[in-house]
Amino acid sequence: SAEPNYDYVIVGGGTSGLVVANRLSELEDIHVLVIEAGGSVYNNPNVTDTNGYGKAFGTEIDWAYKTVKQEWGGGTTQTMRAGKALGGTSTINGMVYSRAQKSQIDAWEEAGNKGWNWDTLFPYYKKGEQFQTPANYSWSEGTGITYNPAYHGSTGPLKVGWTPTQLNDGLAQTLNKTYKSFTPSIAYNQDLNGGQMLGYSLYPSTVDSDLNIREDAARAYYYPYQARPNLDVWLHTTANKITWRNGTEATADGVEVTLSNGTVTVVKASREVILAAGALKSPLLLELSGVGNPDVLSKYNIKTKVNLPTVGENLQDQMNNELAWESRVNHTGTADYLLKKLPAYAAQIASANGNVTRAEDILRFFKIQWDLIFKSHIPVAEILVEPSGNTYTMEYWGSVPFSRGNIHISSSDPAAPANIDPKYFMLDFDLHSQAQAARFIRTLFNTHPFAATAGAETTPSLSTVAADADDASWASYLKPNFRSNFHPITTAALLPKELGGVVDTSLKVYGTSNIRVVDASVIPFQVCGHLSSTVYAVAERAADIIKEQM
Ligand code: FAD
Repeated sequence: SAEPNYDYVIVGGGTSGLVVANRLSELEDIHVLVIEAGGSVYNNPNVTDTNGYGKAFGTEIDWAYKTVKQEWGGGTTQTMRAGKALGGTSTINGMVYSRAQKSQIDAWEEAGNKGWNWDTLFPYYKKGEQFQTPANYSWSEGTGITYNPAYHGSTGPLKVGWTPTQLNDGLAQTLNKTYKSFTPSIAYNQDLNGGQMLGYSLYPSTVDSDLNIREDAARAYYYPYQARPNLDVWLHTTANKITWRNGTEATADGVEVTLSNGTVTVVKASREVILAAGALKSPLLLELSGVGNPDVLSKYNIKTKVNLPTVGENLQDQMNNELAWESRVNHTGTADYLLKKLPAYAAQIASANGNVTRAEDILRFFKIQWDLIFKSHIPVAEILVEPSGNTYTMEYWGSVPFSRGNIHISSSDPAAPANIDPKYFMLDFDLHSQAQAARFIRTLFNTHPFAATAGAETTPSLSTVAADADDASWASYLKPNFRSNFHPITTAALLPKELGGVVDTSLKVYGTSNIRVVDASVIPFQVCGHLSSTVYAVAERAADIIKEQM
């Protein structure tokens, strides 16, 4: 048959890629191809089981990327999980659907991204959503679930709601009473998805509440639309690099792929190539295509097509330690100390990456982050209470660490593992906030009425980390035992070019005429919610931007 003629080739059929594919293929005369390295997981019980979190880890649908040894993170090597399947990481994630604090999204505009703020993004969170009203399910009775209908969409593809496994044994009410008795008291948050995240809340999930199965990007945005004649998906197909139209301008004309049978071929894109391979892959594909830092590219004999040194820089993740519940906490007291340290922190980050990102730019972002913490009072930690049998596991993370690392290719071979270095715990504030959250959790366990339901602390235990332990003592427990929080972002930053950005406000890669990045790579700052809702919203907005520019 004749070589298919695609207008848009989307690399990565994951959380973002399938949103863009769906929306572009609404236009009947636009031909869209999605290239996905993984296969269909429609019937994979490790995906569909709403209680199956973790079952897919280490299986063939987990990329299980490895970091380099973490110098400040207890010398550990971290596994950064990511879904390798149609639906991407949404097929293996924790299904938590929580957005961001309004001020955090407004900070995108403050950092120089004109038109990217809460008011422009909020309609896209709702556009994608198909909220399932808990009151329609008898099991929701007694659970304590509340919500504000104004924050939710009802006609989008993505089902959001709660599951029959939501506890109705009074724990939510007990925790609520307990938080109210804190000084200062921690309020109940009726619905954390309207831009105010502080407080205790029962979060919704990406789930089909009728069927009690996971709602992932493929179930929401692909399978119901797969009959569209202008939408193709090539599974088990890996993109190697972008191919260029002849001439000096950086215009993509297609993508070199390895098909499932091992054949290497080029698929043409007459309009655009859209990278949606995830924060730990899209920047590498840019580098393999000659877009990046010439010092990195020349090491592997890759000719520089576009000199854009910050590709792969600014990698940010959070550190997850175990102790669990569902809340947002705000701690205070370190504002002045931290403000004074920001210039030194910024200098340390710049020097750790060979000054590819400039200290003065990083300092600017850090001041924005400082304002978010101490002026807008965003939640600086998330704590999940996970009751199971006779155990409460407390899983938590500081939501806005300051450390920034990077990711780069280690070879011109696209199949070679990358150098991934999030630089966890590089800056002492990140350790301090991780330790503060642990102290907060101990306070929770000592506060009634919740305290009455808890026995002795087993992990780390008071004999391992004393009740009055300082940050250094906490470090000896936290650093060897943390894991990646699986929220990598900013490796192809949405920022002005002169501040180290990789994509402009239309998510187009600087210096190219028709390559965009639409995935977690572009998100410029960490959010207090979980990432996928924001990833979906950004992709929804990106699709509209692309349509406007057709
Ligand atoms: P992905 O969804 O990962 O999509 C990238 C796609 O590109 C994948 O399908 C991949 O296979 C494909 N791909 C990669 N390279 C190539 C290539 N060379 N050729 C072809 N295809 C390629 N967020 C939440 O909101 N709630 C949670 O509870 C939550 N829990 C999480 C738990 C885990 C274990 C993880 C890993 C993440 C979690 N997240 C959670 C984060 C969230 O799921 C991700 O941030 C989000 O799904 C990322 O979307 P993406 O579009 O950037 O990338």
